[in-house]
Amino acid sequence: MKPVNVKFFQAGYCTHPEAIAIRDGKWKISQFPAVFALILHPEHGAILYDTGYSELFYQESKDFPYRLYALTTPVYFQAEESAAKQLQKFGISVADVNYIIISHFHADHVGGLRDFPNAQFICFQSGYTAIKNLRGIAATKAGFLPGLLPNNFDKRVIFVEEDSTVALPPEYDTFDTGFDLFGDRSLIAVELPGHVTGQLGLFFTDTDKQSYFLIADACWLSRAYQEFIQPHPLANLIFASKRDYIDTLHRVHELHKLNPSLNIIPTHCSDAWRKLSNLQLTF
Ligand SMILES: [Zn+2]
Repeated sequence: MKPVNVKFFQAGYCTHPEAIAIRDGKWKISQFPAVFALILHPEHGAILYDTGYSELFYQESKDFPYRLYALTTPVYFQAEESAAKQLQKFGISVADVNYIIISHFHADHVGGLRDFPNAQFICFQSGYTAIKNLRGIAATKAGFLPGLLPNNFDKRVIFVEEDSTVALPPEYDTFDTGFDLFGDRSLIAVELPGHVTGQLGLFFTDTDKQSYFLIADACWLSRAYQEFIQPHPLANLIFASKRDYIDTLHRVHELHKLNPSLNIIPTHCSDAWRKLSNLQLTF
C-alpha cells in the first residue's frame, strides 16, 4: 500500500456507563473520547477522518427535540479542542484540508464539518441516504443533527465509487470488498454496517510501516473486538441492525486474530487514544 502520514487528535468526549459499551463492563461512568485523524497524503495533502465534536454541537442541540441527544449523551468539549483549532496549532489552516472522510453522520463524527470551507466530503452513499432527509425526532433518534452539515453539502460530497473496488490483501480478507479511495492504494475503505447503515472503515499504512484500521463505532472499546464482547442489549436500541453489528464486530475480531500487529482503532476507546496521543507525525 502507498504510505501516508497520520496523527490522531481528540475533540471532546462524552460519558456513559462502561457496561453499555461492553456487556461485562462496570456500571461506573466512563469517558469516551471523540478521536479524529489527520492523514497527510503525498499528492492529496491534508485529509481528515471525521472531526469529533465542535462548539456547534451545543447550539444545534439546545432546542427540543435535538436537546434529547444532549440529555442522553452528556458531552464535554472546550472551544480550543475543535479540529479546526487543533490543526491550526499544528500549522494546518482550515483552508488546507482538502478532504474529510466521514465514517458516519453521528454528531460526534461530523461536528466540525462546517469549519472547513474547501473540503470535499467522502462517504458511502448508503450512509448519507439513510439520514439526509431526517429531521426532528427521527433525526434525533438517529443521532443526527442536520444543522451540523454545511448547506452546500450535496455539492461537496463525493460518494465512494462502486467501481473502485479492490481485492484486499490476504491478511485483511475477513472483509470481502475494499474501495480504493484515490486509486493509488493509499486509503482503502470498507463498509462496517450495523451501528449505522453504510459506516466507513479505513485501512492505510504509514511511512513507519505501521498499518492502521480505523473502525469508527464498529465497537466502542478495544476489548470488544479483541475478545468479541457484545455491547449491552440497551445499545441495540440505537443500532441500524443488531445482526449486522455482530457480523461486523466478528469480522474485526477475526481480523485482529489473523493480524495482531494491525492497529485497529475504535473512535471512542480511551485505551487506544492514550497510545495514539503519543504518536509523532513524521515528515
Ligand atoms: Zn461515535
